[in-house]
Amino acid sequence: MAQTITNLTILGSTGSIGASTLDVVARHPGRYRVLALTAQRQEDVLFEQCMRFKPRYAVLLEEAAAARLAQKIAAAGLAVQVRCGVEALEFVSSLPEVDAVMAAIVGAAGLRPTLAAARAGKKILLANKETLVMAGRIFMDVVRQHNAILLPIDSEHNAIFQALPHDFCRDHSGNLATSGVSKILLTASGGPFRDTPLSELQQVTAEQACAHPNWVMGRKISVDSATMMNKGLEVIEAHWLFNAPADAIQVVVHPQSVIHSLVQYVDGSVLAQLGNPDMRTPIAHALAYPERIEAGVEPLDLLKVATLNFIAPDFARFPCLALAYQALRAEGTAPAMLNAANEVAVAAFLDKRISFLAIPRVIEDVLAALPVTMVNTLDDVLNADAAARTAAQELIQRTASLSPQSSVLSPLQS
Ligand code: NAD
Ligand code: MG
Repeated sequence: MAQTITNLTILGSTGSIGASTLDVVARHPGRYRVLALTAQRQEDVLFEQCMRFKPRYAVLLEEAAAARLAQKIAAAGLAVQVRCGVEALEFVSSLPEVDAVMAAIVGAAGLRPTLAAARAGKKILLANKETLVMAGRIFMDVVRQHNAILLPIDSEHNAIFQALPHDFCRDHSGNLATSGVSKILLTASGGPFRDTPLSELQQVTAEQACAHPNWVMGRKISVDSATMMNKGLEVIEAHWLFNAPADAIQVVVHPQSVIHSLVQYVDGSVLAQLGNPDMRTPIAHALAYPERIEAGVEPLDLLKVATLNFIAPDFARFPCLALAYQALRAEGTAPAMLNAANEVAVAAFLDKRISFLAIPRVIEDVLAALPVTMVNTLDDVLNADAAARTAAQELIQRTASLSPQSSVLSPLQS
């Protein structure tokens, strides 16, 4: 039987997940067609991708970069339409011909285009965890109302999806308790600073924070992994994806990153998904679901791995993990504010404006300063996001002006 072609929009195609997605797609030319590619401002990379995959649309967030891309595309004689702005990202996420949308923009910027894909009832391959952290209830409601299909790309959530009962996620209203699930066990590598003496954490650089021991990722998620905020965001992501209360989600540090997560059942069974740490596995799983396709990933050699270790997370070393659990339990706008303060703090750390240890301090102070309110509309989320960003920026600026020499290296004074 001839294979039907799946038409794809890849949001954030120039990033780490975007590139891995195109790598898997290129291995199956008769199976997938790229209809749209998007990025923020990397017109050179996007141009190369256009040359190779010949999409119908290429979208850049920034207008000037889009104008430069349009010139190059015209000079190369390619039939690619270039657009710009958030509306164009929403447009390519909801095109009638598109079957599946890879949501791989980093950060809060992914929310609107991913929501547009859900409203259009698409199959969504969700890498942008921030969508669920910010607006989990609203997003899941839209997914259910419009019969969108949500397939997790985050390796842990993809592992849990695979270990849950077959039909659990079919209409996104599965119930863990009635499915015999007692706990979700979310594994974490512990990042590059798992064993760094606490006294040295004060001095660590952005380059050290981005040198993850097991995974190659974008810079924002790499810093999140180093603070373990990434795991905190993933706890919130798991809450919404699997309808799981905070108490049913346990983080287990597993330094080898071979077991990608586990599901514990009431009969004592624990089901896990294993594999080499390579995002092409969850990407290929979600692209082909429920079938399986080759992903270019080395098979797991258990004899080479030999040992698997499990350690309880150190909440004192990684306060961001505790802050994320706290925000999840506070509900309402708290997770959106946590996410926004984290994005501002991580950007400031990458810019060498604050120290590594200042990241959780900024988030904690922002959460303490702003009231948590209920979320009824998307505007409630966007307003909370904006307020937390402003509060975090002000805090960082105030601290820098108080002690200009030492602000890069010392934690914030509250
Ligand atoms: P990245 O920084 O490598 O790439 C981000 C992509 O988003 C780029 O194409 C960039 O141009 C685009 N982008 C950035 N800001 C934008 C904006 N304001 N508007 C439009 N586009 C914008 O990031 P990544 O590591 O590929 O991560 C992407 C998402 O996937 C994140 O939400 C991350 O948490 C999640 N994720 C990544 C990994 C991984 O291994 N990299 C694993 C699990 C989940
Ligand atoms: Mg992950």
